[in-house]
Amino acid sequence: MPRDNIDERKCINLSNTEHQLALFGGPKAVTEAPGDLFTWPIVTKEDEEAALDVLRRGAMSGTDVTKQFEGDFREWLEVDYALGFNNGTASLQAAMFGCGVGIGDEVICPSITYWATGAPAYSLGATVAFADIDPVNLCLDPNDLERLIGERTKAIVVVHYFGHPADMDPIMAIAEKHKLKVIEDVSHAQGGVYKGRKLGTIGHVGAMSLMAGKSLAVGEAGMLVTNDREIYERALSFGHYERYNQEIQTEALKPYIGLPLGGAKHRMHQLSSAVGRVQLRHYEARQAEIRLAMNYFWDLLEDVPGLRAHRTAPGSDSLMGGWYAAHGHYVPEELGGLSVSRFCEAVRAEGVEDCVPGCNLPLHTHPLFQSADVYGHGRPTRIANAARDVRTMDRDLPVSAGIASLVYAIPWFKHYRPQAIERYALAFRKAAMNYKELLVGDEGNPATMGGWNMFKRN
Ligand SMILES: *Cc1c(COP(=O)(O)O)cnc(C)c1O
Repeated sequence: MPRDNIDERKCINLSNTEHQLALFGGPKAVTEAPGDLFTWPIVTKEDEEAALDVLRRGAMSGTDVTKQFEGDFREWLEVDYALGFNNGTASLQAAMFGCGVGIGDEVICPSITYWATGAPAYSLGATVAFADIDPVNLCLDPNDLERLIGERTKAIVVVHYFGHPADMDPIMAIAEKHKLKVIEDVSHAQGGVYKGRKLGTIGHVGAMSLMAGKSLAVGEAGMLVTNDREIYERALSFGHYERYNQEIQTEALKPYIGLPLGGAKHRMHQLSSAVGRVQLRHYEARQAEIRLAMNYFWDLLEDVPGLRAHRTAPGSDSLMGGWYAAHGHYVPEELGGLSVSRFCEAVRAEGVEDCVPGCNLPLHTHPLFQSADVYGHGRPTRIANAARDVRTMDRDLPVSAGIASLVYAIPWFKHYRPQAIERYALAFRKAAMNYKELLVGDEGNPATMGGWNMFKRN
């Protein structure tokens, strides 16, 4: 439903001068320094002690702490197997190998995501077909799946983008119908819930980054979780050489015990494992506070034209996971066609540095997925081993192609501090309410917004 004719005075208790946009000389909505409002991860003495213990024992390259961390993860997500990795990219590559992805196979993933969701397929001799995203949850659109499925499709990699659970039920149903494996990339959404089920445990295997910028932030690290013994053992055999030992039960893997099948080394650094154990211990409590804070921010903006929350319905049995890189939806038609870049410029002038337009750029448009001949096949790697030219199937992904002008980053609060959050929300409200003034001088969106990598250092 469009929102217009909102009585501005009802929404903001401000004097006339306070309404004036900071961009045009009015007072800023946010004037106080944020302090630790955004600091992440939260590092305490407990993390320091855990890391020091590893250093003092000289256990940086062992696996004892990593195995404990895996145990914590199994308990937390209630899964049979968890396997630690040196980063999320490696966990995704191993998950693909675990699902049997190999030469000439195809995996499907959304075009709007971080590159590591799909790019590891290349190193397995496989390729990627990109699906469009749903314009509301910003995750893989189940309605765009079946047209991409071919003889050689092996797996679907689903991303719970920016912390929002993907619509898993229809995706699982399609996968089952076509006998495909589903890999959940949980890098943005650790601890999130889809219809009562924890993210990462709904598909055949979950893989995720635990990089220092993510929701569950450790450092360079990744984790794979599954209830499938064969997927687990295949993932382990790929790059966990010393754990590829007599305990292996999968018959087909037994002859090669001792050396990693992938010629890869995927072991987690134990400084990461140690810090990860501490971070996980506090994660649910910290996540609960983030949820309170983020939902409060969006509640404050419920009635504002042009702005919509990117979140699960409050009170439903689905939950955002950690709110990684939180974003909002933008409806320019409700703001006289104001460009999102001009809108963000006004919000930033109010003192909200993080408000930038766009998100990840659509992967299918990058030359790596069009023309690059990475391995010297004499033709693009994307089709080097493929039975068909998958590039022709994702030339037109309208939602992915247009999403940059319809989203913007919002502050990712780590603490529930209502008064501060109200000031940040006011910045967004002021920019939207004064859209007519902003239309003057609106030069429209630049050709590119967002980036291939979204990580921003503290
Ligand atoms: C960060 C990220 C990865 C890769 O994880 P690394 O730990 O950086 O290797 C994979 N997928 C998504 C969606 C990510 O955001």
